[in-house]
Amino acid sequence: MSDAGPLVLLVEDESQMRRFLRVCLAGRGFRLVESETGQDGLVQAATRNPDVVLLDLGLPDLDGVEVTRRLREWSQAPVIVISARGQEADKVAALDAGADDYLTKPFGVEELQARIRVALRHRERSAEHPEPVFEAGDLRVDLHRRQVYVGGTEVHLTPIEYKLLATLVRYAGRVITHRQLLTDVWGVAYATQTQYLRVFMGQLRHKLEADPAQPKHLLTEPGVGYRLRVE
Ligand code: CA
Repeated sequence: MSDAGPLVLLVEDESQMRRFLRVCLAGRGFRLVESETGQDGLVQAATRNPDVVLLDLGLPDLDGVEVTRRLREWSQAPVIVISARGQEADKVAALDAGADDYLTKPFGVEELQARIRVALRHRERSAEHPEPVFEAGDLRVDLHRRQVYVGGTEVHLTPIEYKLLATLVRYAGRVITHRQLLTDVWGVAYATQTQYLRVFMGQLRHKLEADPAQPKHLLTEPGVGYRLRVE
């Protein structure tokens, strides 16, 4: 990241949306480069080497899923997909193709900045080397000692529950799709066994959440997956 601030590549064909994002990011330390098509977005990504990519899914030439797939062949820049309601399947496909997160239109300035901050943080320290201790509110996960605490009291997790939580910690703050979680925790043969996730996520919530029906840590992203809240 240069002293001039992180470079954001915005790939979006709607001029109104580009104007909104320009206003959101201007004066907040971001530099912005804009593309109106998927093809041009890929060229800009290759020539400008952005720190983060904001990618609309509905583009006039290539769809965002294809752009993500091509980008991931050579770039590790975080990709935040911008989707409209009704694009849930495409959103999940983009995440499974390597996108890091998503925003559903309409979204606010705060939400956009929070997502960009999380994406940049993850880029700086690789997901393979997470912080040894994760803390958010009353939850504390010590990855070295494999210990989990809620409000200072140690909570005993089964090996699968722990693996599921440790995977969420690795992606902390970002969405992780059902397929990614199932593949990471159970293996690729289980990629579609979403009922496993429902059962084990329920158990985790009972052990970690003050009110499992109103989770504060283990958030559901409807139709997509889960997100571990970071603050
Ligand atoms: Ca569009």
